[in-house]
Amino acid sequence: MIVHDAAPTMEETTLRDAMSRFATGVAVVTVGGEHPHGMTANAFTSVSLDPPMVLCCVAHRATMHAAIGTAGRFAVSVMGGDQERTARYFADKRRPRGRAQFDVVDWQSGPHTGAPLLSGALAWLECELVRRHEGGDHTIFLGRVLGCRRGPDSRALLFYDSGFHRI
Ligand SMILES: Cc1cc2nc3c(=O)[nH]c(=O)nc-3n(C[C@H](O)[C@H](O)[C@H](O)COP(=O)(O)OP(=O)(O)OC[C@H]3O[C@@H](n4cnc5c(N)ncnc54)[C@H](O)[C@@H]3O)c2cc1C
Repeated sequence: MIVHDAAPTMEETTLRDAMSRFATGVAVVTVGGEHPHGMTANAFTSVSLDPPMVLCCVAHRATMHAAIGTAGRFAVSVMGGDQERTARYFADKRRPRGRAQFDVVDWQSGPHTGAPLLSGALAWLECELVRRHEGGDHTIFLGRVLGCRRGPDSRALLFYDSGFHRI
């Protein structure tokens, strides 16, 4: 048996605390249609290049959970270093619902999904939902990338140690 003296246990540090040491980018996931919606997410990653696929984990209790399933398509705007306010806004449950929540940001409709693509982002991806897997209190949504585009070079927004940072 391998014993790791310094290995933390769940009593010593919560999973949330441990995972806060894993720096991630920050994205806003959006859906279009009759009830457009946006949500800040950092549980987003690429999965496959051929076919091109990404995944996003969404909490069961988030409004986005039903929205993404209903829409069947979603877009991802990768936040730049100057978009902390936007990232905080789309993580705030007090924001307006529906189309009105996008009144405070510039955006354009994605050609493949109709989902809002937020202006000033570092990159945009548009995806078709191809599969979903249950993972505890979240669902892993797998999307096939229908189109993606890189934005202008700029600093990136990171989430690390429970705070926003720029790189
Ligand atoms: C950096 C960062 C990364 C994040 N990454 C992820 C991620 O990868 N996946 C993920 O699922 N979440 C993530 N979140 C959290 C997510 O952005 C927020 O929970 C966001 O509000 C969810 O948006 P929503 O519209 O889908 O859900 P909301 O409708 O905003 O609901 C969020 C929560 O608030 C409750 N709620 C909604 N309306 C009310 C109300 N009027 N009164 C009381 N409670 C209410 C809901 O029941 C739910 O528990 C992240 C947040 C941050 C800051």
